[in-house]
Amino acid sequence: MSAPITQDVLTIARKATDGWPNLVGMTRDQMRAALIAAGTPEKQAKMRVGQVWQWVYHWGVRDFDAMTNLAKDYRNLLAANFTLEVPQVVTRQISTDGTRKYLVRIDGGHEVEVVYIPEEDRGTLCISSQVGCTLTCSFCHTGTQKLVRNLTAAEIVGQVMLARDDLGEWPIPGAPRVETRLISNIVLMGMGEPLYNFENVRDAMHVVMDNEGIALGRRRITLSTSGVVPEIARTATEIGCLLAVSFHATTDEVRDQLVPINKKWNIETLLNELRAYPGLSNSERITFEYVMLQGVNDTKEDAYRLVELLRGIPAKVNLIPFNEWPGAPYRRSSGNRIHAFADIIYNAGYASPIRTPRGEDIMAACGQLKSATEKVRKSARVN
Ligand code: SAH
Ligand code: SF4
Repeated sequence: MSAPITQDVLTIARKATDGWPNLVGMTRDQMRAALIAAGTPEKQAKMRVGQVWQWVYHWGVRDFDAMTNLAKDYRNLLAANFTLEVPQVVTRQISTDGTRKYLVRIDGGHEVEVVYIPEEDRGTLCISSQVGCTLTCSFCHTGTQKLVRNLTAAEIVGQVMLARDDLGEWPIPGAPRVETRLISNIVLMGMGEPLYNFENVRDAMHVVMDNEGIALGRRRITLSTSGVVPEIARTATEIGCLLAVSFHATTDEVRDQLVPINKKWNIETLLNELRAYPGLSNSERITFEYVMLQGVNDTKEDAYRLVELLRGIPAKVNLIPFNEWPGAPYRRSSGNRIHAFADIIYNAGYASPIRTPRGEDIMAACGQLKSATEKVRKSARVN
């Protein structure tokens, strides 16, 4: 087997446009207001938004001068007032299994990770919603990193755009339409708790779903939450994407340890909220994520209890073999344990796929993401 590839892609210089309003990540309404504020006549504003939108999100163009159906004067006006910025890729690692992990830098020198997982007939992009995470799930590497900040909508949409750049996925004018998408699905399963950054995540997903741009269907996006109960229903009503819940335990005692937000909203509260989830149906089931930790949550009794708890909720259970990271306090359950657990769930009538860990050689698997942002800040303070 060949070795994974790590490439340094970038050293960053400050640009004269740093701090200018960025059109990337704005909703259509926000972009309209911004264009008017910069001098676009109100009557033209809607048309202008449509034109810029198509250049940026359909063609992937980020140079105003290349927007050739706009008059030169208008291109100058845009260039004199706005930027089109996405996070900058610092390193790209490519696993022997084809998984790509990007370390990207955002304003303030912070870093987050983005992972692309190619499969035979689809490809999933795992994006981050925060730098680090305020929650401290004991099995998650990100949870050991102090939160630095929420990502902006531009930084969330920008992760999708930079991955499309790298994969060469923007359409080529005149070329036949490509039917199979390289990024066919997006999961909000990278760094951070998306429901603690709800508005930015929502706005970003609306940009990504917009039919005149990247046009990813709402059912191709999955938001994963550790269980922020008061925000869960808004996922359906304000975004409309699919929901995954990091369940991971079948008793409050164990879940309190693994997913400490359980102390605030326990299993019963969470399940009641999920039973009432708007739009819940068999075709839009909730995914229950369940990390398999040896000797902690992986017994047959756990599996039977899980089946009982799920009663009445259209659900599927995604079993995630624990991905180890340096210093992790848990071990992965054995293959036999995981299969026995999966069989019990399956025989009770729920799909129970076991997630194949991807990109393990580059630490790109679920829960292994952690950037050096915290360290960078500490050393910056010393200097
Ligand atoms: N904060 C959100 C989304 C990011 S984590 C959430 O917790 O749901 C994405 C998934 O990976 C979650 O189900 C999370 O519990 C799981 N996970 C975290 N660390 C893991 C690890 N080391 N091994 C396997 N899965 C892990
Ligand atoms: Fe945060 Fe999710 Fe990791 Fe928990 S599992 S610490 S909520 S990123």
